[in-house]
Amino acid sequence: MNTFPPSATWTSPHVSGPLPGPGSAELLARQEHHESNARTYPRHLPIAIAEGSGAFVRDVDGNVFIDFLAGAGVLSLGHSHPELAEVVAGQVRRLSHGLDFPTPAKDAFMSAQLSMLPWGLADRMKIHFCGPTGANAVDAAIKLCKTATGRGDIVSFQGGFHGSSAAAMALTGLVEQKQPVANGMPGVHFFPYSYCSRCPVGLHPETCSTNCVQFLEHSLKDPLGGIPLPAAVIMEMIQGEGGVVPATAEFARTVRRVTRELGIPLIIDEIQTGCGRTGTWFAFEQFGIEPDVIVASKALSGIGLPVSLIIYNKDLDRWLPGAHTGTFRGNQLAFAAGVAAVEIIRRDDVLGNVRRRGEQIGRLLEPLARNPWVRQVRGRGLMWGIELADPETGRPAGDTSRAVQRNALQLGLILECGGRDDCVVRLLPPLNITAELVDAACKLLLAAIAEQSAIAGLDANAGHGTTADTAQ
Ligand code: PLP
Repeated sequence: MNTFPPSATWTSPHVSGPLPGPGSAELLARQEHHESNARTYPRHLPIAIAEGSGAFVRDVDGNVFIDFLAGAGVLSLGHSHPELAEVVAGQVRRLSHGLDFPTPAKDAFMSAQLSMLPWGLADRMKIHFCGPTGANAVDAAIKLCKTATGRGDIVSFQGGFHGSSAAAMALTGLVEQKQPVANGMPGVHFFPYSYCSRCPVGLHPETCSTNCVQFLEHSLKDPLGGIPLPAAVIMEMIQGEGGVVPATAEFARTVRRVTRELGIPLIIDEIQTGCGRTGTWFAFEQFGIEPDVIVASKALSGIGLPVSLIIYNKDLDRWLPGAHTGTFRGNQLAFAAGVAAVEIIRRDDVLGNVRRRGEQIGRLLEPLARNPWVRQVRGRGLMWGIELADPETGRPAGDTSRAVQRNALQLGLILECGGRDDCVVRLLPPLNITAELVDAACKLLLAAIAEQSAIAGLDANAGHGTTADTAQ
């Protein structure tokens, strides 16, 4: 049975006094003075973190929080997992950096990753290790597909996020980030995604025929469609930063069918959804499709050590030596931790835990259906979003979700926001989170939302036609 590591010394959150506490305030001020204006998380979560253990972090003032951000989904087995920490400590004494030489740690990591692929897929695939960020792996995937096809255009989806390097940003929907940076990578074409709670083509999920993806098919097949045959289509199975928006099964399968028919490599960005986050190792497994290129990063090491890779169909390997180099492609600590993480995930049935805890979150959040500010609750596995909208205008209620995030922090729960105007409150707990902590965190979340509804002077039990998309 499951033997999840204990959450060290902490079993419950504890916050004393308004945040930030004095120690955090001092470090935040120093950060503001010295660090770039582009810093993000501490603007909305104003704490300085001293240490983490399991699903908890402690700030420098001694406040303890349940961490439902988990390093933006990186810490799949929680902070400083003791077994992983031991493996890393052993590895650092043997070898820490290996460029792209073969090493025992890398070889074991490669085998572990291939062993997690759906049956038969590993035989058809190769791996390339990338510079250790997700964005670098996205760059690699695009370069691979351009080289293999000799084509230059890329199709991406509105609401998608693929990273902040110049090329990955060009594939990303985030207009505000792109706007100030002139001359981005050309040849990227954006198409609507199956964002059914705010349908991009103005239809209703009950009566539409997934017209969003029909538009893509039509555009790519129309001789007057305006887009040369692209080198790749890149897609997230569930848009994470875009607000936890899952592709519908019909949308995903049509994208796969059309790309196959036209000979366009399909890149699935599993940087956030991968490594068990949605209840299967990769999210695409739940949609009955097979990508040509898989991009993975974030949770590969399980403990936050950076590593990224692409796994791709051998037929695409037209690269010449040195086609995608990078000094930091041989992080032996991440490899060793990643092997141990896979072993633990298998041993402790962590994917089963993801599915069970996901169902639990779905049940616990059911009362939100009666809150007039909640437009939709969406989730798979341990990736959940609560979309807030102004009950009068229907507009994304980003200020309200940020206020909920602040309330939750003050109550001892770390959450993130995403989506249009940050109107989606996001939950990304560690994958080995216990049932007790899910209970505790959801209670705090409901309290944080109720507090906000009360501030807005609305009856949280009034009901407002909220929908739920809680497919597991
Ligand atoms: N792709 C997806 C789906 C992501 O969620 C992210 C990061 O959140 C990235 C790419 C970029 O990864 P990184 O921040 O490691 O460059």
